[in-house]
Amino acid sequence: MFNKKTIRDIDVKGKRVLVRVDFNVPLKDGKVTDDTRIRAALPTLKALLDAGAALILCSHLGRPKGAPDAAYSMAPVADILANRLSVALTFVPDLAGAKAREAAAALKPKQVLVLENTRFHPGEDKNDPELSKQLAALADIYVNDAFGSAHRAHASTVGVAAHLPAVAGLLMEKEILYLGEAIANPKRPFVAILGGAKISDKIGVIKRLLQKADAILIGGGMANTFFKAQGLPIGDSLFEPDAVETAKTLLGNKKLHLPLDVVVASAFDNDAEFRALATGPVQQGWRILDVGPETVKNYGAIVATAGTVVWNGPMGVFEMPTFATGTLGLAKAVAESPAITIVGGGDSAAAIQQSGLADKITHISTGGGASLEMLEGLELPGVAALLDKE
Ligand code: AMP
Repeated sequence: MFNKKTIRDIDVKGKRVLVRVDFNVPLKDGKVTDDTRIRAALPTLKALLDAGAALILCSHLGRPKGAPDAAYSMAPVADILANRLSVALTFVPDLAGAKAREAAAALKPKQVLVLENTRFHPGEDKNDPELSKQLAALADIYVNDAFGSAHRAHASTVGVAAHLPAVAGLLMEKEILYLGEAIANPKRPFVAILGGAKISDKIGVIKRLLQKADAILIGGGMANTFFKAQGLPIGDSLFEPDAVETAKTLLGNKKLHLPLDVVVASAFDNDAEFRALATGPVQQGWRILDVGPETVKNYGAIVATAGTVVWNGPMGVFEMPTFATGTLGLAKAVAESPAITIVGGGDSAAAIQQSGLADKITHISTGGGASLEMLEGLELPGVAALLDKE
């Protein structure tokens, strides 16, 4: 159930609509390397344009430090969007100042204006009331379609919503329906797969999933902290000393599965010497960089009989092809499972894309942190700020 108003509940004809999108796309040498998030916003943008709105779009991109930084300009993103929408589109290198105001005022229905990176302004991540007011002054209506940023209480995601009629976009609605339903009403067995580097930012999720899910499969660097908690020497593997005690308290739970085997390497390097070992002591000078083939088989079998699978975080250092085997193997298992499958987080979504099996996944979430917070049962501030359905 989604209890917020959406763009279907308002009349936008002839109105200026400020849309917070999540165009935080990966960039390399000033070029967008993956436009998934841009494409994900198109249904909302097209629906608003078809309904006769003029659109003013804003998003953050990367992590500039509250000041303009050419490397993170929205200009290349605007170019891609212009190719995807067959309407007049302009980009203005300003967020809420005079240039943005002028461009917004000149906008006609069915035209699009793209504003500069919200994080070029120091007020964005402070949820600055002044910036929120300035953003709101550009438009008549506010739409939040940036699910990937909904866990952040920033000026463009929360502050602005207090000053305008504020509703959800279609992507926001879809994300919350899928993730919300998976947690509230899962088809069982409900299996969660958690990987990635750190355990500390996923402790809350693990604790909640231990109540809600039937099995939690752990991989990636976070498994190392569990090995450490079991008293195993882990050589030079990455782990989190501060999380070992918490990991100890979770170990006894039968729902929690750890890798049966691991791939260890002589260096943190794609060309390092490497081998698979049954889970056990790892020698000094070696570090765990992936799960092993037995684990992929074991986790694959659990996933194959699941009713719902939620996956967040890679099984190893998948950026290096040598250590991507576990992650790609699991991606295949998830894609082939007849279960409802939901993949969240940039890395796991990228692994699914790399494996060419994206169309076999029920829902690939555009949000990493936001999807984790939903799995943890937290209210997303960007959603809370929107109007309730009557
Ligand atoms: P996170 O941001 O916590 O989801 O972590 C993603 C990162 O975890 C990726 O960049 C992976 O390279 C990294 N990672 C996964 N497994 C390991 C491992 N065994 N050792 C070091 N880093 C890892």
